Amino acid sequence: MMNVCQPIETPFEYRHVCWFCGEPSCCNYLFAPSTRYIIEPVHPALSLNTCKECKVIANQSTAENIWHIRLDVKQGLMRKYHDHLAIGINWTEQELEEAEFEGGNFESFKRSAWMMYEIARERVNFIGWPIEIAGVNIDDLQYLVPEPFIFDGVEFPCLDDAISHYSRTFGLHKKYLSQVLSFMGKEQFAKAVRFCRLQIGATPSERKLALLALNQK
Ligand SMILES: [Zn+2]
Repeated sequence: MMNVCQPIETPFEYRHVCWFCGEPSCCNYLFAPSTRYIIEPVHPALSLNTCKECKVIANQSTAENIWHIRLDVKQGLMRKYHDHLAIGINWTEQELEEAEFEGGNFESFKRSAWMMYEIARERVNFIGWPIEIAGVNIDDLQYLVPEPFIFDGVEFPCLDDAISHYSRTFGLHKKYLSQVLSFMGKEQFAKAVRFCRLQIGATPSERKLALLALNQK
């Protein structure tokens, strides 16, 4: 069972900032909420600043340590803001500025699109300050979650999130992209995505043949 939640140490400049996403905070997230019982907690119960949106996602998580909760929050934000993050994949800032959209809807899209992308990217990339409770730093527990995967300026909570995001953005088969990556390695993520995009209209057997050819290289 968890003890009373103690507030973590918050640096002065972060006193009104959400620990999960860097947006202005409005409330506290308690780990664990009083409705949850964790039999063998790996760290003391704590409380930290959060925005309302991250708090809602965090409260839905059933993870058993704050690092996993953060992972769930980042994944929740990525799902919710998928379309905003996809702007940065489909466009560069300059292309967007030079695009000749016509009509009210497109013009307002053009004005706000890059800003929406940047806000979503900053929130997903935000790394909160170190967690210190009653003078004890617990950051060494971060090993409990997978390594983030950084690609094209975005920090994905893990490789699988990047695979999901790009599959959804380009309409790729997620399992196929994973298989291609298993041959190419995550260092060649961009090449793997291009390889899959070339086969968007291919039949399952054509894709299978392409994968076999890749394996023989
Ligand atoms: Zn937040």
